[in-house]
Formats: sequence, C-alpha cells, structure tokens
Amino acid sequence: LVLLEHARKSFGGTPVLKDISLSVRRGEVVAVIGPSGGGKSTLLRCCTLLETLDGGRLAYGDLVVAEEDAAGRAVYAGKAALKEAKTRFGLVFQNFNLFPHYTVLKNVTDAPLHVQKRPKDEVMEHARALLAKMGLAGTEDKVPCELSGGMQQRVAIARALALDPDVLFFDEPTSALDPELTKDVLKVIRDLAAEHMTMVIVTHEMSFARDVADHIVFMDGGVIVEEGPAEQVINRPQHQRTRAFLAKYE
Ligand code: ATP
Ligand code: MG
Repeated sequence: LVLLEHARKSFGGTPVLKDISLSVRRGEVVAVIGPSGGGKSTLLRCCTLLETLDGGRLAYGDLVVAEEDAAGRAVYAGKAALKEAKTRFGLVFQNFNLFPHYTVLKNVTDAPLHVQKRPKDEVMEHARALLAKMGLAGTEDKVPCELSGGMQQRVAIARALALDPDVLFFDEPTSALDPELTKDVLKVIRDLAAEHMTMVIVTHEMSFARDVADHIVFMDGGVIVEEGPAEQVINRPQHQRTRAFLAKYE
C-alpha cells in the first residue's frame, strides 16, 4: 500500500535519512520507534509530502509519487498525481493542529466539503458518526480550546478519517498529553487497529507499540537498525542499539 525505497534526505548537507526502505501492507500497523533526532518525523514528513526526498522512490499502491532517475535523484510526479496521492493518507501530529476558531464539526467537515467537494449531507453524517465513535458526541459546536488535549487529539483523528484515507500516519500522537488523556487516545487507535485500519505510528509508548503494531521499525541515526514483528523487536531485540534504547523504558 505504501512503498518507500532507498529514501535519502539531507538538511544542509547533513544526512537525516540514509537509504530507508519501508513497506506497509493494507491493514497493517507499523510502529516507528527510536531516539530523538533519529529521523522518525522526517520519514513521516517525506511519506506525507511535507518534505521532498533527495533520492529514492515513493509509491501509494499503483500511484508513483517519486521515482529515482539514473543519477539517483528522486523525481516527483506531476501536480495531478501529487494531489491524488494526498487523498490517500491522513496525518495526525503531536500538537493536534486543529483550526482554533472553527468548531469541532467544522474542523472535521471542512476538507471533505471544500477540498473533496463531497455532498454536504453525506459529509455531515459521516463526521457525526466519526465523532461519536471517538467518544466526542455532543462536542460538535464547541471550539478546540474548550476541550481537553485528549479530546482535541481525537478530533484530529476524526478529521483525518473524514477524508477516508487508505493509511493514517501518526507522529507521537500522545506525547503532548498527560497519562490519563493518553489512555483515551491510545484506545481510539487500538480500536482502529482492530478494524484493520492501515497505520504508521511514531511513538514512545513501547507497550502500546508492542500491543498494537504488527511490525516495529527501530530507527537511529537516519537508518533502520532493526525491524520485525512487534513482539520480537520489543521482547527479543537483536541489536545492541535497540537493546540500549529499550532499556531506558523498563
Ligand atoms: P524526535 O524523537 O525528537 O521527534 P525524530 O526521530 O523525529 O526525533 P527528526 O525530527 O526527523 O527526528 O530529525 C532528524 C534530524 O534532522 C535532527 O538532527 C533534526 O535536527 C534534523 N532536522 C529535521 N528537520 C529539519 C529541518 N527542517 N531543517 C534542518 N534540520 C532538520
Ligand atoms: Mg519527531
């Protein structure tokens, strides 16, 4: 469903992604873990077209976003293909990034109505159903600052789902929340996993990653040091760097 091959990215001459390949199958949950500065957010930003790759290939299903030329440079597809690609994924950030002056309902319905131009009745019904599923029924007319951080993050998840993406990317969705609020957000993500929503989740919640992910990728220094089935990477890491990282969470 998502295929990244030999991805390379530097900032000001400093390589941040060094030949990263990642493949996500439909219905699979992939967790990305690793120390700060390892390139996790950059990887997500490259997958979601917020950053451009220097080299490598990126495809969403049969839709090729970037292809490597003979010199190894990533060459991006045309405008129409990029626009189409952006309909295939949703992104949830650490800090919710809701529109502060829009109501909850408007936050969720704005893009489906005005970007996807879907029929209003259908969009409203879908949005209300998603909010109810996130435990947010009754908050439709509130503005984000009237809600707790955990609720705001669930609005952000509803907003991403309202576009019917093939895959959802999360960048540390709970790291701005205290433990009580974190639980509610993790539950929503667990429920989505149970419904076989395809997800790529950067997280520092190791037990959550082990429980919810099918596949875990450990990144450090711009490379994938180790990856495999969740239980294996967390319980029986093969590499010293993975073991050292995980030891900090025990
Ligand atoms: P964290 O766990 O702290 O979120 P991370 O694994 O997400 O870390 P990245 O944010 O991807 O790491 O950053 C990887 C490296 O790239 C860091 O050294 C960072 O300083 C650098 N970097 C990221 N974005 C930029 C940018 N826009 N310009 C310059 N350097 C950047
Ligand atoms: Mg990050």
